[in-house]
Amino acid sequence: MKTINFGIDLGTTNSLIARYSQGKTEVFKNPVGFKETLPSCVAFRGERIIVGDKAREWVQKDPLNVFSAFKRKMGTGEKYFIPAKLESISAIELSAMVLRELKNFIYSGENPESMVITIPASFDTVQSNATKQAGYQAGFKEVVLLQEPIAASLSFFNNRAQIDQGKWLVYDLGGGTFDAAIIEVVNGEMKVLDHQGDNFLGGVDIDHIMVTELLIPKLIELSGKPDLADHIATRNGPYERLYYILLQKAEECKKELSSQLVSEIDFTFEIPGEAPMDIFMEIPRSEFEILIDPIISNSTGMIAELLERNELESKDISEIILIGGSTLIPLVREKLESEFEIPLNYSVDPTNAVAIGAAYYAGTKMARLEEKTEEQEQGQEIPDAPLLEFKLAYNNSTRDNEEYVKAVILGKNPAVFYRILRQDGGYDSGLKQLKGNDFGEFVSLREQTVNVFHIRFYDENQNEIKTGSNKIEITQGLYSLYGQPLPEDICLEVDDLENNTTICELVFKRNSILPLSKTIYKEISRTIKTGEKDSIIINLLEGDHTTHPNANKIIGVIEIANDKLNGQVVRGSEVEIKIEISESRDVHVNATILFTNQEFSEVFSPTEKYVSISKLKEEIIQLRDEFEIALHKAADDEDFENAQHIMNSISDLDNLQKDALKLRDGDLTDTRYQLEEQKRKIAKHYYNTRGKNTRVQSEMMEYTDSRNAIRNWLDTIDDIPEDLHKRFDKITEKEHDILKSNSYFLIKSQNNALNRLAWRMILKSAHLTTTYFHIYAEKDETEFTNYSLAKKAISRGEKALDRQNFIELSSVLSELMGLSKSSQAEYFIKGTGLG
Ligand code: ADP
Ligand code: MG
Repeated sequence: MKTINFGIDLGTTNSLIARYSQGKTEVFKNPVGFKETLPSCVAFRGERIIVGDKAREWVQKDPLNVFSAFKRKMGTGEKYFIPAKLESISAIELSAMVLRELKNFIYSGENPESMVITIPASFDTVQSNATKQAGYQAGFKEVVLLQEPIAASLSFFNNRAQIDQGKWLVYDLGGGTFDAAIIEVVNGEMKVLDHQGDNFLGGVDIDHIMVTELLIPKLIELSGKPDLADHIATRNGPYERLYYILLQKAEECKKELSSQLVSEIDFTFEIPGEAPMDIFMEIPRSEFEILIDPIISNSTGMIAELLERNELESKDISEIILIGGSTLIPLVREKLESEFEIPLNYSVDPTNAVAIGAAYYAGTKMARLEEKTEEQEQGQEIPDAPLLEFKLAYNNSTRDNEEYVKAVILGKNPAVFYRILRQDGGYDSGLKQLKGNDFGEFVSLREQTVNVFHIRFYDENQNEIKTGSNKIEITQGLYSLYGQPLPEDICLEVDDLENNTTICELVFKRNSILPLSKTIYKEISRTIKTGEKDSIIINLLEGDHTTHPNANKIIGVIEIANDKLNGQVVRGSEVEIKIEISESRDVHVNATILFTNQEFSEVFSPTEKYVSISKLKEEIIQLRDEFEIALHKAADDEDFENAQHIMNSISDLDNLQKDALKLRDGDLTDTRYQLEEQKRKIAKHYYNTRGKNTRVQSEMMEYTDSRNAIRNWLDTIDDIPEDLHKRFDKITEKEHDILKSNSYFLIKSQNNALNRLAWRMILKSAHLTTTYFHIYAEKDETEFTNYSLAKKAISRGEKALDRQNFIELSSVLSELMGLSKSSQAEYFIKGTGLG
């Protein structure tokens, strides 16, 4: 078994490849030109594909056949048209070309099959999957993703002589994305506490705004062409190439302004059908700073938010670690210093820190591919049920040359001997006699690497006893990683029939450490009958669980149409949904409809998110309609506070609409993604503040009522199973924060959790089953959807009660629940079918 060792920083502007070997990292250099960085830029010249510096230079000559900053389009499904080839290409394919080019940097001739590739911390599932896809297309068989701020920190901490404890802030302003992360180090183990970022904030935005706000107005003035602005950012106009030329000029000028107070731009302006014109402009740093101030403030604002959200003050942060080429801009440093008064640390090279960190990580990460083949070679099989179970205690990261490993055998102990072996054979405890149920050993470690050990147990005849996983990994001399956090909440869309809407139910909270796995039980919210077209929808979302599902992104959907079901599924019956997310963000969903005993499963590896301009415009109009209706209602109810909130949302939406209307089909800037993001933010804000006072209040009251009622059951009824007591404690443990949040959706989902628990108690406690059976049995005809079925069920229930068969009674009760009309007999939305 080997470590991966190779890491790639696949940047928006620049990409790098590095290797880890025996405690050291090395950034490979381009065999042509000997630079570490490869511009993430691809040019097409006839049949030739050029990647890197040469491609960048080609922009001046043939901009339409040169592509860059495509990382920002990862996961969008957008295609780039290549005039030279009359074909289109995706951001994934372009990225794969950059990755393949980087492989040529490896002078040793190795051909790694496993690769660590870095992604911004804020990359969502779709973008992460798109990155992996690019890796596979480039020929890697295994791609391990690593978040960039973690990579930068690994390089920062592994380069420091002393061992530090505390909290740091990583500020990474690169070409395309901004990422900020709070990193905590305890005993050599690094952990990301929280992060904040924007996938559309970086150096290329600065270049873009320089072109539109500085260069074009100056150019219009100099050339006397007032229609220039209209033509410039669209394809097929008379000034096709001009935008790209100006972008490159802007970038050069920007870089110069990092070290000079004034920068000059000169170039030849080619006007179709006219004589070319020589253009000369002077840009002072002060003018540049006024222009970019809002962009930089946007980034520092996110840091302020990040600190506040984590209840941290400047004094709690040791240093700000600066990463990314755009941190070379003096204004960035000035603003950070004056706003936070936290010392800035420039000790790592802002351009290669991420690649070096990726290599460090790769040096501690086992290649899975090889692991598999090795096990196959050895013909090992996975034991069905282990005959011996044990627990281990050890530090998985240390600076010492040996580490104490303690083992405790749990339950029955058939072992007489044990043995600890280091994978490379450099350490062997030998066969040792077990005394009692535990033992401890000092194991010796190789320096600056991961040490893999196997712990084995033997019976009195020295035959090995099957155990569960017996492998441990201890990293010597390097900072290890506590794990990578999930960037956003993962939730499930469920029905809220009472309010004729759907809500998010939290599955995994943001910042939970990957990999994650959870099984949840949902109830079917309406009977799914055979015949009429109907389905159960499992919609997995990513975003903020306290908002409306519409304001979140979709990871994947399993739609179970009724014609796939073996018969009808009654309301109130359960669906078991198991959701797993791997460290590299593969999402696996498995749903079992318990009523028909059917299983549906799907792996979500979405690599595309498409923003259609026409759909975006349509959604804005729809949202506006919804806001208007709500506004009228609020005005009728004389709920002026709420009306004010809605009016604010309408005005935000109107501004957005203005920008959206300016977008033409074929627009080639990133504006559509920015506007789509804004739309989601407005929707989120609206759903979070709407009707806050009245609806939140009533939801809170309902919650306290149900909580008190259930607490009373738990105190007075003694046949409620212990696990439901625990479940109640678990649900109510968070109640303080949830009630304080004042979020309707959050309190609503807390209420739902409590209601579901109540029903489980009713069905699991003979006492409650009996009570509720009587309540249902006494309901009259009008309260059931099918009274003859209800009557049959009631008579079966009475017999079950006579025989004291509570299992039967509880199944009758759930049938009656399914047959009873809901208090709101009609509802308008179809919903998901999950309650
Ligand atoms: P990425 O990680 O997105 O590939 P980098 O960290 O390599 O990006 O940073 C590239 C960005 O930094 C580009 O937008 C580039 O224009 C900008 N940049 C590089 N050097 C300077 C400089 N001296 N002053 C200002 N910006 C710079
Ligand atoms: Mg970067």
